[in-house]
Order: sequence, then C-alpha cells, then structure tokens
Amino acid sequence: MSSPDPDSWVVHKFGGSSVADAACFARVAAIVEAQPGRRLAVVLSACKGVTDALLQLVSSAERQDESWRATLQALRERHATIAAALLPAAVVQEYLAEFDRDVADLGSVLRTTQVMRTGGQHVRDRVSGYGEIWSTRLFWRTLQQRGQRRAIHWVDARACVVAVWGPLGPGIQWPLSTERLHKLLAPDAATLVVTGYIASDAAGIQTTLGRNGSDFSASIFGALLSAAEIHIWTDVDGVLSADPRRVPDARVISALSYNEAMELAYFGAKVIHPQTMAPAVGRDIPIWIRNTFAPEKPGTLICAHPNSDQPVKGITSIDEVALVNIEGAGMIGVPGTAHRLFGALREEDISVILISQGSSEHSICCAIPANQAARATRVLERAFARELADGQIQSVEVTGELAILAVVGDGMAGMPGVAGKVFSALGTANVNVRAIAQGASERNISVVVAGKDATRALRAVHAGFYLSPHTLSIGVIGPGSVGQVLLDQLASQRARLAREFNVDLRVRGIMSSKRMTLPPAGIDLDRWREQLLQLSEPADYERFLAHVKVDYLPHTVIIDCTANESVARRYYDWLAAGVHIITPNKKANSGELGFYRSLQAARRASGAHYLYEATVGAGLPVIQTLRDLRETGDEISCIEGIFSGTLAYLFNVYDGSMPFSAIVRDAKQRGYTEPDPRDDLSGTDVVRKLIILGREMGLALEMSDVRVESLVPAGLESGSSEAFMEQLPRYDARMRQRFEAAKARGRVLRYVGRVTSAGEATVGLMELELRHAFANIALTDNVVRYTTSRYCDNPLIVQGPGAGPAVTAGGVFADLLRLATFLGARL
Ligand code: ADP
Ligand code: ASP
Ligand code: MG
Repeated sequence: MSSPDPDSWVVHKFGGSSVADAACFARVAAIVEAQPGRRLAVVLSACKGVTDALLQLVSSAERQDESWRATLQALRERHATIAAALLPAAVVQEYLAEFDRDVADLGSVLRTTQVMRTGGQHVRDRVSGYGEIWSTRLFWRTLQQRGQRRAIHWVDARACVVAVWGPLGPGIQWPLSTERLHKLLAPDAATLVVTGYIASDAAGIQTTLGRNGSDFSASIFGALLSAAEIHIWTDVDGVLSADPRRVPDARVISALSYNEAMELAYFGAKVIHPQTMAPAVGRDIPIWIRNTFAPEKPGTLICAHPNSDQPVKGITSIDEVALVNIEGAGMIGVPGTAHRLFGALREEDISVILISQGSSEHSICCAIPANQAARATRVLERAFARELADGQIQSVEVTGELAILAVVGDGMAGMPGVAGKVFSALGTANVNVRAIAQGASERNISVVVAGKDATRALRAVHAGFYLSPHTLSIGVIGPGSVGQVLLDQLASQRARLAREFNVDLRVRGIMSSKRMTLPPAGIDLDRWREQLLQLSEPADYERFLAHVKVDYLPHTVIIDCTANESVARRYYDWLAAGVHIITPNKKANSGELGFYRSLQAARRASGAHYLYEATVGAGLPVIQTLRDLRETGDEISCIEGIFSGTLAYLFNVYDGSMPFSAIVRDAKQRGYTEPDPRDDLSGTDVVRKLIILGREMGLALEMSDVRVESLVPAGLESGSSEAFMEQLPRYDARMRQRFEAAKARGRVLRYVGRVTSAGEATVGLMELELRHAFANIALTDNVVRYTTSRYCDNPLIVQGPGAGPAVTAGGVFADLLRLATFLGARL
C-alpha cells in the first residue's frame, strides 16, 4: 500500500463518524501515528452531527426560535467534554478560549439572522463551517500532546483552497490554491491537520464544498500536495456493493475504477462524495476507503485499472425523485424539443438526474429531485404552452414518489446478459420499471421505480448479482438431540458446499420451546452453542419468522427438529407464505387428513417445498424411494416393515432367556427407548409412520383406520412410567408363551407395520419365518419392504439404522440439499 519515499505526502481523511467522541479522537490519533514515516495531511470532518446542528442554528434563528442559544451552548459543552478527556487543563483552556471567540462571532451572526429573518447562503456557509474548525483544532492539540509525530501544523483550508461554485458544483482554482498552500506550508511541515469541507471563493468569502465535502477536501489536498495516496477513513469496511442500511447482505468491493466510484457516488453511495475522484484521476492518485473502527481490514481501492472480474460492482439508489415526461406525436422528427425541455429546467435551476428518450422521439422523460416537481410542472407548461394548446404535445406529466436504482460496473460493457439479469430480478420481485437509462459507456444501467419498491428492488437486484441463487436462509426450531447434531453437520459442511456447489446455507435463527436466538447478522455456525446461550430471548414465532424470512435472501426454510404438535400446526401458514419446511417431526403428516391435505395444497399454491424424509426411518431413503417408484409409474401393492428402532431392538434381543420386562428396562437404561417406554410399546409411533407412508401412496388414511396391537398391557396405559416398569414383569409369562409358541413353529416375533393399496393398515406383533428379511436385521435397524408391480416376486428392501440423532440429522441435511437442487443448485 505504501511507497517508500519519506518526502512524499499521504492524505488521510476521517469522516464525522470517525471523530464522534473522545474515544474516536484517540483511535484516529493512534491510526495516524501508526502510519509509516511519510509526510501526512490529516483532513477531518466536523464531529458527527455538528454540521447538521450548526445549520439548524441558522434555521432556528430565521424562525425567531431562541433555542439556538441553548443548542450553541450544547455544542460548546460537547467539544469541551472531548477536550477535557484528551488534553491537560491548560491546553483545554487555550482551546476553549478560541472556541469562545467563535461562539461570540456565531452569536452575532445568528442575532443578525434573527433580525433579518433570513440567513442566506453566505450565512449558512459561514456558520456550518465551524464544525471542521473545532474538530481540527482539537485534534491538532491532541496529536501534539501525544508527542509521537513531528512538526504538526494546523491548516485552515479557507486560507488556501479557492472554490468557485458553478453549475457543476464547486470548481477549484488549482494554480491559485497550489500557490497559496505552498506559501503557507512551513518547510519542516511533516504533519498537517487540515479542515475539511470549507474553502474560500474568489472574493475571499468563506464557502463550502457542499454536504459531505470533506472527502473532496481530501482529494483536493492530495492533488495540491501531489500525494502518493489518499486514505478516506469512515465507519464501514469500504465501498460496499449496496447501502448496508438497506441491503444488510452488502459486501465490500475490493477495488473500483475512478469511473465506477464516481458513478456509484453520484447515484447515491453516500460513503464517498462524487467529486472526490476528479482531482485524483488526472494525477493517478490511488484512493483507499477504510474503516476507522477496523483499521486492519484491507478496505476498497479506487484507482485507474483495478484488478477485478466482477462485471457489476454496486447497486445504489437515489430516493425522492420525480419523473417528467413529455409526450406527443408532434415531437417526432422535430429538432430542438430536448434542448427546450432541458433549457427550461436549467433556467429554473432544476437539476436533471437522468434522461431517457424513446427512439421514436415520441416522448422524452427525465428524472428530477421530487422537491422540484411542482416547479418543473409550471415551468414546462409555460415553455410548451403553444404545443400543448395545438395538441402537438399531448401532455407534460410529472410523477412523484419515485426512486432511481443504478447498477454500476465497468465490466458490464460488452457483457451480454447483465441487463437481462437486472430486469429478471426486478420482475421476480414484482417491481414495475417506470423508465430506463443506459449510457453508451455501458457502465451504468439506471431504472426508475416506485419509491415504495426501492428497497425491495435494491435487494432483489443485489441478490441477483452478489448472492448465490442457492442462498438459503434457515431457521432451526428445536435444538435438541437431532437439532444439535444437524447444526454441527451444517457447521462442518457449510464452507465446502459453498465452495464446490455454490450453495450458501445461512442459519439466521434458532428457537427452542421457550427461548430463541436471532443475531442480526445470523448465527455464526462455528459458535452456535455460545450464541444460543448468550443471545437468547423469549420465543416468539412471529419474530422468529420475520427474522429468518428476510427479503434480501432468496429462499427461506424452517427446519423443525421437534416432535411437537404445536409447531406442526404452523406449517400451513409458513408454506402458504412460500417458506420451505424440512422436518423429522411426524405430527403434521400423521395428523388429521384434512390438515395434511391443506398442507399439500398450500405447498402447491405457493411453490414452497415440504420435505420430511426423516419422519420415517431417519436418514434411510424410505420416502424418496416410494416417490421414485410412484413417479416412474410403478404400482405399489404393499409396504411393510419394522419402523421402530426400539421395537426392533427389543425383539432382536429377546430370546426367552431373560424376561421381556428386563430387556425393556435395559433398553431404557441404554437410552434406546423414549423416557416413557409406553410411547414405543403402544405402537403409536409406528402407526404415525405407517400413515405417512400410506398417504404418500395416495391413500386417504386416518390414524383411527389402523388396526394396532399395543404391547402395553391393558390396565397399564395410565400412571407414572416408574409404576409401569414395576408392573410390567407381571406380563412376562404371556410374552414368553408367545415367544415359545413361535419358536416351536420355527419362527420369531417381530413388530411389523403393513399398509396395502386397498387401504388396509395394521401394526402389531407377527410370527415370521427365520429366513424372512425382517427376522435378520441388526439391533436397532429399520427395514422397509415395497411390493410393487415391478418388484413383485422379489420385493425391494431398504434397510439400515433407522434411529438416532446422527442418522436422523443426516436425513434432514439430505433434504436440505435436495431442496437446494430443487432451487437450481447442481450438486
Ligand atoms: P463519514 O462520516 O465517514 O463521512 P458517511 O456517513 O458520510 O461517513 O458515509 C458512510 C456511510 O455511508 C456508511 O456508514 C453507510 O451507512 C453509508 N453508505 C451508503 N451506501 C454505501 C455503500 N455503497 N458503501 C458503503 N457505505 C455506504
Ligand atoms: N461536515 C460536513 C458535512 O457533514 C462535511 C463532511 O462531513 O464531509 O456535510
Ligand atoms: Mg461522508
């Protein structure tokens, strides 16, 4: 970044937000002192908000509002407080003595204004310029006190920069300004502290460089000193791809050309004043935009030939714009209409921001600031009165409440498809385009849209260029055993998926039954446990959804890892709102048929995806297999299987040598059963899975249609689970009998669910031949057998571990990637 010549100058400019309080001043001093040993010109803005406050003083005085006196005192207090924190008492006194002379001057100007009832531009220029004088005097003393840099001089820009305002803004008189600065510079000067924003006009009267003009001051001094570099320090990491307050996902642009920066600034990127680039271009001085609050970050480089292959650099907007449209068949082929239109506006000092003309010459339109719309209407109706009366021009129409959106990038030139992308993003976001302009440089495509659509339009276009279209905003509900493993899996795979497949997974919020965590920038997956502990707040579904479903990210998905009915009840609203849902929770799909159907209808209507592979057999491809069979035209006659890992385990282990109740107890201790083993033994869980599969086959099944054999002995259905475990041994003999009877026939007992295409559904204990597929599974395996017209003699079998957090979370993750492919990702 630095060239080694110790005599060369480098300009550092710090904006108002960088000098907001004493801590800021100390931070800026430290940055200045850390610069390698070259000559430095440090240009400062007024402390944050001071210029606004000063301009308010004038307005108050004009309104005869005496409150300006108190406001002026408050400004003195604010500076005195900063000074007291940074400087020894004697130096503070010196600073305040100068300050009080300014207060006295200001007082007389404002009293006069109050008498005159009007300030005028000169008064505004004079008054608003004090902020930079106060901030630089303070900083100059601070640097001196710290004693790290040598020969520090305070430079009042009014004494050297001569600016004359014309139609294009302030024009700098370069030879005169250069001469004055060099006269003023002490030969030993190594550090200058320079007032931003202010200058003098040709007559020596104080003027300014316009709001935000300190950036321009920096490059003026860069040019006057033939600086090697200009660094503009602000409160963001550089020039971002869009205004971060409107597009939270905006990212830092590493390098821009002068032209791109100019274009972005002109079209509303407030981070830099549009005129800043002009003095640097001819002299080829690189400009860096950097963050005072994170000086270690690289920032944005603005130079002649940036190294970048990004066709679009940034998307900006100008709000509060009106569109003037004149239209008429009489304009076709008639030279001079445009000249008259712009001439009339020019005479009234109405600035034209953008021009668009249909090639038929049938209409011309231009955008102007909304607050000049009424005046523009009057002016143009007057200018074209004759044509309007004759009907050569049908109308002069001025429409307000609009905004301009500009898409900027040198690389757009000659690159097909950029405009197409802009318009398709706007179309998808349902934003109507009122006018379009593209300069022949092809560096900028500007569109005029309704003001109320501006933020949505910005986000949509930004997402189109800067985000992977496979960016998923994710909300995880239920950080229990499955949810936690899923979050860990996402954390470990996220970078790879982004790198290899351009799938960008962003968990924005996590919610448990009582608490939730919604960090503004989303969950940092590497620290999700910490964030869950630190940032939690009471659970609230509406806020959770609003946080996850942000319109600057293209897709939203809720992952419900609970087994909770009340969460499942919300699926309808989410699907209807276009939110995708992924879940291992069986409650929704096994609930009433009407509800299930309403979910499918909502999904179809909104285009949202609803994926629930992990509801049956955890990560095993049970539902996907069924879908594939049906979609390819196979006819399923029967699905049967062992759908409960717990019951699979109990009957795999039970060989008559130990009582059945002891095996249940042991399984409970190993964590293979639900906390209350009746939840497994009742068969309800298997019934739910069977219902899900049956409905997936197209059957209209309700839970009550399933014939279930519960393994909970009659009479033990209620009461505590401890009492149940105590009573269970009384029924061991009965189970033993069934076991022995089966054994005598060369068979084993298995708990099987079965559903047929005729709608018969049963769940219960069955005797199976020893060589039956279900008789030979490992421990907690699930096994599912599909008998279909294609797989009839030798049915299709899916088998494997069908329970446990890791495989269940794996099934959910697989659904998430399936969703990404549905949305266009190529895995
Ligand atoms: P300073 O006080 O340093 O002059 P400004 O407030 O004038 O700072 O400009 C910095 C602000 O500009 C940022 O805080 C940001 O909110 C806003 N901004 C608007 N558009 C952009 C953009 N495209 N890139 C970076 N910042 C932007
Ligand atoms: N202080 C001036 C303003 O607020 C100039 C600047 O900060 O760039 O407009
Ligand atoms: Mg600024």
